[in-house]
Amino acid sequence: MKNFNGTDTIVALATAPGMAAIAIIRLSGSDAISIAEKIFSPKKKSMKLSTAKSHTLHFGTIEENGKLIDEVLVSLMKGPHSYTGEDSIEISCHGSQYIQQKIIALCLSSGARLAGPGEFTMRAFLNGKMDLSQAEAVADLIAADSSTAHRLALKQMRGGFSNEIKELRKQLIHFASLIELELDFSEEDVEFASREQLKEVIVKLNKVIEELISSFELGNVIRKGIPVVIAGKPNAGKSTLLNAFLNEERAIVSEMEGTTRDTIEEEITLDGIKFRFIDTAGLRETHDAIEKIGVSKAFEKMNESPLIIYLFDAAVMNGKDLRTDLVKLKKDVPGDVRIITVGNKIDAVSQYNLDNDFGNIPDLFYISAREKINIDTLKNFLISLYGSGKIDANNSIVTNVRHMDALKKTKEALSHVYKGLQTGITQDFIAADLRQALHHLGEITGEISTEDLLENIFSKFCIGK
Ligand code: GDP
Repeated sequence: MKNFNGTDTIVALATAPGMAAIAIIRLSGSDAISIAEKIFSPKKKSMKLSTAKSHTLHFGTIEENGKLIDEVLVSLMKGPHSYTGEDSIEISCHGSQYIQQKIIALCLSSGARLAGPGEFTMRAFLNGKMDLSQAEAVADLIAADSSTAHRLALKQMRGGFSNEIKELRKQLIHFASLIELELDFSEEDVEFASREQLKEVIVKLNKVIEELISSFELGNVIRKGIPVVIAGKPNAGKSTLLNAFLNEERAIVSEMEGTTRDTIEEEITLDGIKFRFIDTAGLRETHDAIEKIGVSKAFEKMNESPLIIYLFDAAVMNGKDLRTDLVKLKKDVPGDVRIITVGNKIDAVSQYNLDNDFGNIPDLFYISAREKINIDTLKNFLISLYGSGKIDANNSIVTNVRHMDALKKTKEALSHVYKGLQTGITQDFIAADLRQALHHLGEITGEISTEDLLENIFSKFCIGK
């Protein structure tokens, strides 16, 4: 990407590598059309791609030294009205790997070079077709594997919170330029920028930034999946519960205590939200070395999970022991972790016993993992904690660590400006802190970017995007 000059012509396979019904080869750059003309013979002999209208489709053949390679459809998009903003050609061919390679090789020998990862999208960004956070959302959109992750990525790709950030940045720039102007007149002790108004803008900006920062936790778990640890004593039925959630026999179920030695992780999408259920080895003090590893892993997982399902065997557990266990568990995990207590094997106990023993425990559910009783109630409760309603209600959600980092740095710089205004420090310090805040805000949308930053972002894309 270092040798990017914005005008040379790049080529790549845009569809997934391998055999398929159809494959698409994409060309973009100043020679895209002339390269396509060299290798493509339209059926309508009088048609020339270079003079044809933009956004048109053309049927014809691709040949190599007079030998037919394939019959193809060529789509023509002239810059700036294309994804990259440059002249672009897409060749839809039959999806044999041989044909794909042949056509790409022909493009290369006709003057194109192979595109780097994300290079089409990087050009779209550099040509002002989208800002950086929108470009990043393109990668998220491709990777989204649940309806909620898809919705968030799509929203960001279409602008998302970029516009909000850009608007506030504009207001800050206004003040920054007034203060810079004061610096020019520093001899005369003038104040062009109203300090009170600047404070107001900072307070407003801070509020937006804080909301965005606090949305990150939700945004991040939606993208990655919400980890839910299933914890409990050996034989409580943890593996069986995991299987009931998954509806397939993946975890090991056994009558012997402590058979689930390690942690098993399974993803399941409920109501468009991805959950990562983690089954742990039994939580008890153990002398068995291998099981010990499993137990300590369980504690590790619990510390990174926002939710724990604490499962107990309702047929053998009594209320006093359960309360003792829950108190112990609460001590071992951070305070903000939510513990859902679930009594299992209700098929083997009477209702009277349940009420008598375990009343008054918050978030308490009764199920039978094996007989699949109340599994849906438990599922619905999980959905209600993270359900789609929450996402619609919260308009802007940050999902990207880089954006989160820039927001935090902006907040810090702004707090310096604010403090400076309160203590009445000189313009040059305020101007420097304002510049810092503007820099970090600009990093999100890409008004401020470096080659390294771009390389880092786009190298994570697939080739052809
Ligand atoms: P784990 O050690 O917590 O993972 O427990 P398992 O899932 O291996 O289950 C231990 C035993 O309890 C197995 O024999 C299961 O068949 C049984 N079990 C699990 N769920 C239920 C249930 O809802 N009712 C009854 N009666 N037995 C169950």
